[in-house]
Amino acid sequence: MRLYGKDSLKARLDSIAAQHRLPHAILLYGERGTGKRVMANYIAKLFMCGAPPCDSCNTCSRIDANAHPDIIFVREKCGGKYNLSVDNKELVSMRKVMESIAIKPNDGEIKVYIFEDCDDMSPIIQNTLLKTIEEPAPFLRFIFTCENTQSILETIRSRVTEFEVPAPTVDDCTRCLVDRGEPADKSHELAEIMSGNIGKCIDVLSGAGDTAFMEAARKAAAAISRKDGFTAAAALSANTGRPEFAAVLGYLSDILRDALAVRCGASATSFGKTEAKALAEVYTEDRLMSMLDTIFEVSDDAIYNLNLSLTAAYITSKML
Ligand SMILES: [Zn+2]
Repeated sequence: MRLYGKDSLKARLDSIAAQHRLPHAILLYGERGTGKRVMANYIAKLFMCGAPPCDSCNTCSRIDANAHPDIIFVREKCGGKYNLSVDNKELVSMRKVMESIAIKPNDGEIKVYIFEDCDDMSPIIQNTLLKTIEEPAPFLRFIFTCENTQSILETIRSRVTEFEVPAPTVDDCTRCLVDRGEPADKSHELAEIMSGNIGKCIDVLSGAGDTAFMEAARKAAAAISRKDGFTAAAALSANTGRPEFAAVLGYLSDILRDALAVRCGASATSFGKTEAKALAEVYTEDRLMSMLDTIFEVSDDAIYNLNLSLTAAYITSKML
């Protein structure tokens, strides 16, 4: 298992594990695409194989193949989400998962529950986990992952040990893509566009993270910096369909956040660097913040259920 750009975190975890002090509940946090899942699998190896893991035993091979019966990816068991309230099927699946927690491991001595992307985990569900984390059976280990620790209840945070998953550099990311069989020049170019975010690069290469949506967001951002509301609205609604619209808005908010960073003296790092710099030259921090608010408002709001071109027009009218 190769970890890209994770040397310091790996060394730290290896040393803690070698002293048999690896905590039974761990929270990994870091930006989407930085490798939290790979890191969670690595920690599972530390729990189940040893420090450092051998990478060749039956346990390690099954973890690499995503096929270990005692490593449970809870979010997948819950149909991809666990953010809804009582009486819904996600909570029911969560209960089923929690009931299985009392059952001993299929093989070996350890069972690892991995709760990925806890940012949208509802407080009700977080609370149901509290007791389990606090007084676990000796064979249980828990790994949580999230982008932002603020979304996790204090009561949970006080019971887990937090580790930040560092973002890979462009070079780390390029190496990873080359190792996956991509041509070197293409890998470097993509790694640069994505500022080293391996997950986002893999999404693009697999067709999941569409370059079309990023292009639309860049076009909209450029139009906003020129105060051209018509072109901005057209770019936002060029891709039909609600998930596509949401993806473009997501990418636009990445560029706006980047523009804010530039205003605050940092350098632009997103795939829309040029557009972010242009926005930063035209708008103040306050204006950029209120543009981000508009995007959040639309994403949360009922207006989102209206016609998409109207929504795009509404967004640009509020921004400009
Ligand atoms: Zn091993």
